[in-house]
Amino acid sequence: MLEVQNLIKDYENKPLLKGVSFTVDKGQLVCLLGASGSGKSTVLRIIAGLEEPQSGAVLWQGQNLRDTPTHKRGFGLMFQDYALFPHKTVAQNIAFGLQMQRLPEDEIAQRVRAGLESIRMQSFADRPVTELSGGEQQRVALARALALSPSLLMLDEPLGALDHTLRTQLIQELRAMLRQSQIPVIYVTHDREEAFGLADRLLILHEGVILQQGTPQELFKQPASPWVAEFLGLGNLVPGVVSQTEPLTVKTAFAELSVPTQRQTLVAGQECKLLLRPEDALLSSAATPESNAFGCVVRDSRFMGEYHQLELLCGGVSLLARSQEPAQIGAGLQAQWSPERIQVFPNS
Ligand code: ADP
Ligand code: MG
Repeated sequence: MLEVQNLIKDYENKPLLKGVSFTVDKGQLVCLLGASGSGKSTVLRIIAGLEEPQSGAVLWQGQNLRDTPTHKRGFGLMFQDYALFPHKTVAQNIAFGLQMQRLPEDEIAQRVRAGLESIRMQSFADRPVTELSGGEQQRVALARALALSPSLLMLDEPLGALDHTLRTQLIQELRAMLRQSQIPVIYVTHDREEAFGLADRLLILHEGVILQQGTPQELFKQPASPWVAEFLGLGNLVPGVVSQTEPLTVKTAFAELSVPTQRQTLVAGQECKLLLRPEDALLSSAATPESNAFGCVVRDSRFMGEYHQLELLCGGVSLLARSQEPAQIGAGLQAQWSPERIQVFPNS
């Protein structure tokens, strides 16, 4: 439905967007994930028509929106500081945009009712919004945006101002609400948990381009670069050098590790990075002569609820590993990563 083509945007001669392209399909929730300052809000503003790119195009159902002003695009944009009207009630806030559109009174009343229902706040209709909690206010802001039936909804870090517990809870609610509305959504965040929890498709914006896109599962399984792996917090990235090509072996500061054969050819002496995921660590207290196993010392052991997060010191390198058992700080352990669980990224 939406097609963003090769957006280029500079600020003060500094390139911000260097060719951003992506599409959003019907009813799809697309998350645009990027560090602060990567240009996420700028992408939304360009789609909304609040800003013009140097080049590139925004198409809606195949039609170029270059000459369509913001208010004719029919898109909804909700910012982090969603600014409800403090002197109005919940219902009045939801009704505001509908009144601006001069809809008939009974239709406004009906849409406000539906909006309140969708956020399960029917009994809050006549409360001033200043009496609501942060999470409730956020839901009202969303209902207000949805009441206008935008053909595309863009949310710019809508949960950014809320604390972590509330965010986790709202992610699930938000997902249900957005799913029900069937409106295509672009959801901007710098928080990977939010992105993983919400997205049908995830786009990673970095240095002006979409570095990788796919389902959260695809990105989790197959990050395209060490940067993506690190940004998504997938695990330990360890520098190494190819020591042998058949079988492929990489020498790190703490061990020589067998790794899966790569599609691209690697040569001996080539520098690379290995991704060792904490959840793939095999730990034992006995030093058995297994391949891809090495000794380390427990530096920290933290209870995380479903597992213990261990910080291991291995030949001067610190590695995170998950364990079902707690470990004694200072104790020696043997850690092992099966070759097939290791990912290799040749340095470019
Ligand atoms: P994000 O939303 O990912 O944090 P933004 O899209 O807000 O990133 O902007 C990224 C950078 O682009 C900002 O840090 C700023 O340097 C620059 N920028 C954005 N808007 C403007 C503007 N109107 N004028 C000058 N520079 C801007
Ligand atoms: Mg922003």
